[in-house]
Amino acid sequence: MVKHYDIIAFGTGSSLNIVSELLNLGRPIKVAVIENDMIGGICLTRGCIPSKMLLYPAITVRRILESRRLGIEANISQINFEEIMSRTYNSIASESREIEESLVKHPYVDLYKGNGTFVGEYTVDVNGKEIEGDIILLCTGSKPYIPPIDGLDEVEYLTNDNFFRDLRQLPRKFVIIGGGYIAVELGFFMAMMGSKVTIIGRRPRIMHNEEPEISELFQRDLSKYMKLLINHEAIEVRKKGEKIIVTAENKETKDNVEVEADKILIATGRASNSDITRPEKTGVRINEKGWILTDKYLQTSKQDIWACGDANGIHMYKHKANYESQILFYNAFLNRKVAVTYHAVPHAIFTEPEIASVGMKEKEAAEKYDILVGYYKYENTAMGEAMMVKDYFAKVIVDRETYRILGAHIVGPEASILIQEIVSLMYTNDMSAIPIFRGMHIHPAMSEVVERAFYNLREP
Ligand SMILES: Cc1cc2nc3c(=O)[nH]c(=O)nc-3n(C[C@H](O)[C@H](O)[C@H](O)COP(=O)(O)OP(=O)(O)OC[C@H]3O[C@@H](n4cnc5c(N)ncnc54)[C@H](O)[C@@H]3O)c2cc1C
Repeated sequence: MVKHYDIIAFGTGSSLNIVSELLNLGRPIKVAVIENDMIGGICLTRGCIPSKMLLYPAITVRRILESRRLGIEANISQINFEEIMSRTYNSIASESREIEESLVKHPYVDLYKGNGTFVGEYTVDVNGKEIEGDIILLCTGSKPYIPPIDGLDEVEYLTNDNFFRDLRQLPRKFVIIGGGYIAVELGFFMAMMGSKVTIIGRRPRIMHNEEPEISELFQRDLSKYMKLLINHEAIEVRKKGEKIIVTAENKETKDNVEVEADKILIATGRASNSDITRPEKTGVRINEKGWILTDKYLQTSKQDIWACGDANGIHMYKHKANYESQILFYNAFLNRKVAVTYHAVPHAIFTEPEIASVGMKEKEAAEKYDILVGYYKYENTAMGEAMMVKDYFAKVIVDRETYRILGAHIVGPEASILIQEIVSLMYTNDMSAIPIFRGMHIHPAMSEVVERAFYNLREP
């Protein structure tokens, strides 16, 4: 018999934000939660949290390695890689267990562990059991995109799905295929732990979505610690004894290079989970890549089926998924009509240096507005001088007439924190930069780099 629920929620990341808000309303509802992996979603179990737990020791290593410039002679006598990896995994595993226990114990919730697949309009099959829901939440996240590289299916490779769970011994040579933020963050971590890291990226720059001057500086900086084989396409992977040989083709010259690895990581982007979920079977429209299409209220093309987070393929960050889960809750359960806006979705890359960015890049802003651009270097602030950092900077872009903030991009220590005052202003009615000029900035804090970038607004 098909079991009936008021709500079926796919995924245990941002969908649980919605489920817990609903349960807090105190109504006696029946909720089915479906998850085919560790409970807690990607961010907790194989994304943001474990990666940042690893990056903190990595940043510490870089600071120690470079402490000589501050007059400190320091040596790192040992790095306990196994301990760092196990501590990280144990921490997330224990949090995941706690979430699972609370779901299992809750009288209004049934947890289904397995793949949920639509078999009818509002009917889903999990492990041969059929359940139906009045309202269905598709917070199905994303998974690693595996590129069609010759020989890849014949070798063992890591993705973010098994990196944190399985890697316990430091590989001597580590090759990463992909040049986005997952590649760069995990590559930086491995390099700081002592692996010889090569990143193979097909674009002319790593982090090619960032402002060109930011990704160029970042590339130059990181290449002190790892090899960045940019503008190269990985075309073949094969085993050679205990090693893996990756062949990459130079996209310009068509020359091939071979790189030897003890372990390889695939970080070539994210793919949709619609191949498992099959939302199209019930009339939910998806695009050619399987990402779920919704209106601005996050309702899919099917009545009472809603989607949020990575599942829609837009700005795949946890804070965006959290934001959308809140909007989805308002619209689906409180009869509100709140539209999502994406004008200021920030993001950060948590290496040393960090990159942080929000809003438009200069090129896009200049096409749409008459703009002013302000730059300021960390080293020209007192704190930057104290840190003896070089070349890192903040860049801000405003509309010339109104001083409306259009975008900001920072590369340097703590960029993710520095950008937040700009992000918050971009959520005011007029998005004006004026409060930056009016508000005192603590002297001599690093935030002066942001203040002074605004003081330096000029013709682009
Ligand atoms: C290595 C890495 C680092 C990251 N770092 C950051 C960061 O620093 N900051 C940041 O903002 N973002 C980061 N992200 C992105 C962030 O993790 C995601 O944007 C966020 O977790 C998406 O949340 P969600 O609620 O959409 O999906 P989640 O709930 O997290 O995932 C959906 C879950 O549903 C499961 N599922 C899907 N389909 C089905 C089905 N049919 N049946 C059963 N289960 C199903 C999936 O397996 C998955 O467990 C990172 C991602 C990765 C991979």
